[in-house]
Amino acid sequence: MPSFRAPRGTYDILPEEQPYWMFALKTAAETAALFGYGRIDTPMFEPTDLFERGVGDATDIVQKEMYTFEDHGGDSMTLRPEGTAGVCRAYIEHGLHNQPQPVRMYYASNFFRYERPQAGRFRQFAQFGVEAIGDGSPNVDVEVIELGWSFIRALGITGTQLRINSIGDAECRPAYLDALRAYYRGHIDEVCDDDRQRLERAPLRLLDCKKRQCQAIGNAAPKSTDYLCEDCEQHWASVTALLGGLKETYPDLDYYVDHRLVRGLDYYTRTVFEIEPENAAGQSTLLGGGRYDGLIEEIGGQSTPGIGYASGLDRIIAEIKAQETYEVSDAGPDAVIVHLGEAAGLRASALAAGLRAEGLSVLTAPAGRSMRAQMRYSNSLNARYALIIGDREIESGEGALRPLQSNDDQVGVSLSVEALSRAVRGD
Ligand SMILES: [Zn+2]
Ligand SMILES: [Zn+2]
Repeated sequence: MPSFRAPRGTYDILPEEQPYWMFALKTAAETAALFGYGRIDTPMFEPTDLFERGVGDATDIVQKEMYTFEDHGGDSMTLRPEGTAGVCRAYIEHGLHNQPQPVRMYYASNFFRYERPQAGRFRQFAQFGVEAIGDGSPNVDVEVIELGWSFIRALGITGTQLRINSIGDAECRPAYLDALRAYYRGHIDEVCDDDRQRLERAPLRLLDCKKRQCQAIGNAAPKSTDYLCEDCEQHWASVTALLGGLKETYPDLDYYVDHRLVRGLDYYTRTVFEIEPENAAGQSTLLGGGRYDGLIEEIGGQSTPGIGYASGLDRIIAEIKAQETYEVSDAGPDAVIVHLGEAAGLRASALAAGLRAEGLSVLTAPAGRSMRAQMRYSNSLNARYALIIGDREIESGEGALRPLQSNDDQVGVSLSVEALSRAVRGD
């Protein structure tokens, strides 16, 4: 047993895993660029109040999942548990409302929540997220949903479905929450303990309770879309109509209205959505988000609408692997220099430096080992060539360049960076 291990709920990303991450991040950046979203980076920690007010006091995140600490100046800070609050804080702080609206931004970063570790859930996790702030029109809702869908498709992931709902706004939601509370009070003996405890403070959360005994009760609960005010109703009708238009480009973009979809954060208004694999079970959501028209005002800005989503990259990468949409290249370095003797060792270092400066990937085999061991090393790295130099080669000024990926014969090549560079490149 090693003395130290990565903290529970965290993971290392070893070099062989990195290509998947680079593929996902590159695809995220390219997709965001297609839609005109510019990258934003915000601090890993923010004042605790920002999340208490932005994410919501009543949420599980704020109540029990935040990494909160007092810094040496006595201020309460929190490792960010999600991305939207920080981006909205930056929008206000930098006066981005003076730019053309909406301001379109994306991020790809790490977030922190003290969650019970389980499959697909981590205490430090990576998300790619987008935010479109300053335009409340339904077109932007559908733009953000399209951005999510095309991100998934650009990764090669298929067989997904879009779930969508409208949870109303400050005007119409209170009446809906009353109806929901009244309904659940009538079923108080049938729901789980968690639900009984959160019924009064967070009634929406009962709808997405995953416990079996609560499913049927949730299915029969009042639907938020039946309680929308006129403005929300119109917005909702436009969103679904615009989504229909996306089918010209994405014939498989079937959405279904899931009245139990509410999302876990207090700040959502009107449209909420999730994309998940079909036949998904448990923690499989690839991407989820919604509109948050009250958030900017809640944290001290002018009343400004916004909408966004976040996509858990851990789950995205699990899905890329499950669907085998990305093949990691097994190409090794261009050459490994196998060197025998002191003089050859010195020459090997100098040549490797020269060839790397020419843009070739070149390593030297471990010094002081037998030729056979150094060749085994070169093969294990999957190098294209082994360049073999010993005392005799130093004397003659010509090394042996042996192809490792073909049956071609080895050739003698002058021990200069120029000649070797040409030979390795195949010029
Ligand atoms: Zn429950
Ligand atoms: Zn409304």
